[in-house]
Amino acid sequence: MVSVEEAIRLVKTNLPDRVTEIVQLVNALNYLLAEDVVAKINMPPFNQSSMDGYAVNYSEKIETYALVGEIAAGDSGEEFNVKVGESVRIFTGAIVPKGANTVVQQEIVNSIGKEISFTQPIKVGSNIRPLGEQTKTGQVALKKGEQITPAAVGFLAGLGITEVVVYKKPTLAVLVTGNELVKSGEPLPKGKIYESNAIMLKSGIEHSGYDCAEIGRAEDTFQATKLAIEKLLRSTDVLLVSGGISVGDYDFVGKALIEIGVKQIFYKVKQKPGKPLFFGTYQNKLIFALPGNPAAALSCFYVYVYQALAILSGKNDGLPTRQFTLKNAYAKKGDRAQFLKAKIDENQVEILEGQSSAMLHTFALADALVYVSETDNELEEGETVTAYILP
Ligand code: AMP
Ligand code: MG
Repeated sequence: MVSVEEAIRLVKTNLPDRVTEIVQLVNALNYLLAEDVVAKINMPPFNQSSMDGYAVNYSEKIETYALVGEIAAGDSGEEFNVKVGESVRIFTGAIVPKGANTVVQQEIVNSIGKEISFTQPIKVGSNIRPLGEQTKTGQVALKKGEQITPAAVGFLAGLGITEVVVYKKPTLAVLVTGNELVKSGEPLPKGKIYESNAIMLKSGIEHSGYDCAEIGRAEDTFQATKLAIEKLLRSTDVLLVSGGISVGDYDFVGKALIEIGVKQIFYKVKQKPGKPLFFGTYQNKLIFALPGNPAAALSCFYVYVYQALAILSGKNDGLPTRQFTLKNAYAKKGDRAQFLKAKIDENQVEILEGQSSAMLHTFALADALVYVSETDNELEEGETVTAYILP
């Protein structure tokens, strides 16, 4: 049995090397860049008008300007070489023609026939987005490690970039074990319960930005468990097994993992919920055997699995933690660390009723897990506590 801190450290230090891949920008949302992205063009690629108005070759001595033509967004503007005392009608996004030293917004322009004058003083250089103002050719546009947000997608697309090098996200599979489990929607015979961990873990995986490629089910026999684990291990980077990892007569996951040759990194964590958590490696793959109790399985997913997935896909760490003022006192029994379902209210957090590892109701209402260390037994109202913020 290891402590929570040791288990977290062991997960972090037993991950395979990150893998990189090239993805099309249209599919790159939420990935982390594995290489700097270097701009191949200037942004903007030309001196660009930021207003609808007039591009002017302005001189302090001249009051009225001849209007010699028009440039709309997308025009090349090549035919113009604006001389002192001349102006060209221009629109937002259009190229500022040669010779123009300022753009005057139309709101302060008096236009009579083919001549314009201004109702306010003019500042040379106004309303022009200079070539390369945002990014210059050869500059790093976005650094390695940055996450590709919608804004980043737009920014890179604006630079003409169509593909990026990112950290590959691990593929996942879930195996649920248990003879008592029945699919939702089917009749519920006596002694059976509806299976809920598969869809819960799949949702957790997808909500965290990953794909759950496969879901397997196994009866509580050694053979069925072993075969199912072997099959899923072939096609996945990270395997989550639910249930069958305790010490009951029908818990075969541990024995099957040993038989297959999975290297145990730790088994059992001094925590509540989730004491029977197993973590192991097999070639470059990770195996988390989660307790079957739904709330325990989900806690372990958020504290350990989420962290592994995040780091493999280029992040530094798992779920963010923050300090809160505790709204209600809590007396912990026993000497295990605890993860308590809790609700955030600005800078305060409230530990919710109903912390049993079999109960998901409380989890469904929670947006944080308050962490209570092994040695912390009496939490007082107003005390500062640390909580994991659920995604
Ligand atoms: P186990 O870890 O297999 O001993 O299961 C612990 C508890 O979790 C038992 O009450 C199981 O019935 C329940 N359980 C196990 N797997 C699931 C599942 N996939 N969906 C819902 N409950 C489960
Ligand atoms: Mg079971």
